[in-house]
Amino acid sequence: MRNTAISGPSFQLHTPRGKVECVPDEVIVGVEKDSFSPLTDTGGEVVERFDLGNQLNSGGKEILRIKLENGSDLAESMSRLSKMPGVAYAIPNHVIRQESDPVGERMVNVSGDDESIPNDLVPGLWGLKNTENPGADISAVEAWKVTTGSSDGPLIAVIDGGADYNHPDLRANIARNDGEIPGDGIDNDGNGVVDDYFGYNAYDNNGDPLDKRGHGTHVSGTIAAVGNNGQGVVGVNWQARILPIKIFNDEGVTTVDTILRGIEYARKRGALITNNSWGGANFNPAIFDAFAATPGLHIAAAGNSGGDIEHLPSFPANFPLDNILTVGATNKKDLPAVFSNFGRNTVELFAPGRDVLSTMPGGAFGLKSGTSMAAPHVTGVAGLIASAFPQLGPEEIKERLIFSTDPLSSVAEMSISGGRLNAARALSQDSVAPAAPNDFWVTGSNARSARFSWTGTGDDGWKNGAATAFEVRVSDQPINEENWNRAEPISTPRGQEIGQYHHAQYRQHPQKEDTRVYAGFKAVDEVGNRSELRTTVATLPSIPVVTEEDFDQGAPGWEGDGRWQLIEYPERGKVWSCQPAGKRDGTYNRLTSPIVNLEGVKNSFLRFESRQDFDFPSLVYVDVSKDRGENWERLDRIEENGRWGKREYDLSKYDGETIQVRISSEAIAVAPGEGTIVDNFEVLGER
Ligand code: CA
Ligand code: CA
Repeated sequence: MRNTAISGPSFQLHTPRGKVECVPDEVIVGVEKDSFSPLTDTGGEVVERFDLGNQLNSGGKEILRIKLENGSDLAESMSRLSKMPGVAYAIPNHVIRQESDPVGERMVNVSGDDESIPNDLVPGLWGLKNTENPGADISAVEAWKVTTGSSDGPLIAVIDGGADYNHPDLRANIARNDGEIPGDGIDNDGNGVVDDYFGYNAYDNNGDPLDKRGHGTHVSGTIAAVGNNGQGVVGVNWQARILPIKIFNDEGVTTVDTILRGIEYARKRGALITNNSWGGANFNPAIFDAFAATPGLHIAAAGNSGGDIEHLPSFPANFPLDNILTVGATNKKDLPAVFSNFGRNTVELFAPGRDVLSTMPGGAFGLKSGTSMAAPHVTGVAGLIASAFPQLGPEEIKERLIFSTDPLSSVAEMSISGGRLNAARALSQDSVAPAAPNDFWVTGSNARSARFSWTGTGDDGWKNGAATAFEVRVSDQPINEENWNRAEPISTPRGQEIGQYHHAQYRQHPQKEDTRVYAGFKAVDEVGNRSELRTTVATLPSIPVVTEEDFDQGAPGWEGDGRWQLIEYPERGKVWSCQPAGKRDGTYNRLTSPIVNLEGVKNSFLRFESRQDFDFPSLVYVDVSKDRGENWERLDRIEENGRWGKREYDLSKYDGETIQVRISSEAIAVAPGEGTIVDNFEVLGER
């Protein structure tokens, strides 16, 4: 059994998001499987290995949990381990706490005297059938005419706080592990877990996922409380195969290694769909690798901070993985719930999540609120889709969920689909693609943007309404069917009426040469059928150069103090470098440009290339002075570390001024090879 002593004196790490709690004396290490020579001198013991399977997108890694000697310096150990050959990352074993209900849960007595069909579709189940605001629901009753789920359908893992598998309204829908004989104390199927008959407890690493806290039981009931059994409630699926995986203990606490064990178990049991009504604020590369290596559709709650997760991320919701689908929450009035996170390019769709009625431990029922309650509505519909169309893979199920939503203007700018889950449309029988428009073309371009326009087309041979969505992708190469998937998608509006004029805007930073932008277009229907490809090309005009310097012939007018010096760099000629060996001295070393005259210049723009190599990020500043260095205004604190990148800044607030640009590199952490390098400085502007 794993060491669960996380309530002791835990190590605190300071990060940009505040203090983080960690399991003391433990490190999670990602290593390249093949290139890796056995870890020697870890300063500890490898106590657990997580195998990521043979998925190519995991990079052939494995993840190790290392127990250090008592009282080890965690920061020092991570730094040392991360520099060992073959090590991709070394991170703390964070402690993560489950969010509390943003509204507050309530227990409810459920009466079965409702006349609706099925006999347990009680009025409180507004997300399934909304009697107060008809239509502001997922159209479950219509969907159930196609399927009510399947007792031998997809395996749906609920990665949460477990489930009350004895609940009379859940028990029949908990997947039984047929390879296991319950209660005989033997690991009959040899998967490393004794008596994992009703699921898995990843926190205590045993076969009992019983939930006492309620969150996982509630989520499970929304996906599949037993339907039409004359008692309690009904889930999105009347029958299903729910696999409870308990990653949170009954106090709502977990750790990274627990989450890794839970995801690994879902993969090994072959779950097609997983529900993840949980999240943390920090990107965790080990959890990312675990999801990347696990086939299936992973449905994630967007989180309950009421903010844009593109700025304040939540993981796994924000992981840039095609197999993750993120869900925000609506209320009874079909409006986004005030607590729900959102994201124009991050949250795929919304679903009911306020005052949701479902199962609670001990055979009880209760109301809970949160994106945690929205996600299982989507997971439930994913289960219906997989039951009705068993040939569909996770990607096709995901597309049906996205393209079949009911458009809601209130979430148009808050999500990718701009809509709320619709189970009935997600189950459409439709094999006819929408028509392609004959007027996809460029209707405007300048140095910073191009506008592509088209007229909305009809679906199913124009018989069945309009196309529901459009896709526009751009590339620096002409787009064809072969390279369509590699082209970059840009934001598009929802499909509206046939004949309606639509457009999508491509934006770029100004360039000193004309730019050709190739665009491709497809119309999409509610199940993800796509029209023929249409293409066009836009030319975005260049902007004049005010000043540019590649430093190859020296750097007239530039001043670098402290450690800054011009050096020869492979394939770049001369660059400014603040990366020499030397003692730490705790100063900012400054590189200052000559005066740049922006008199008579409009829409000025700064670009340079730089690379930062630091043990700790965010130690490089970019400042501007318009009074010859008397006062400096901060333009940026560069976060990126470890690779070359373009730094691009709008300077239009300095139009008409004479300015200087200064790049400062912190020297307190400088060891050999650490610091900053700068190349290819340019200022553009219209005259
Ligand atoms: Ca077993
Ligand atoms: Ca029931």
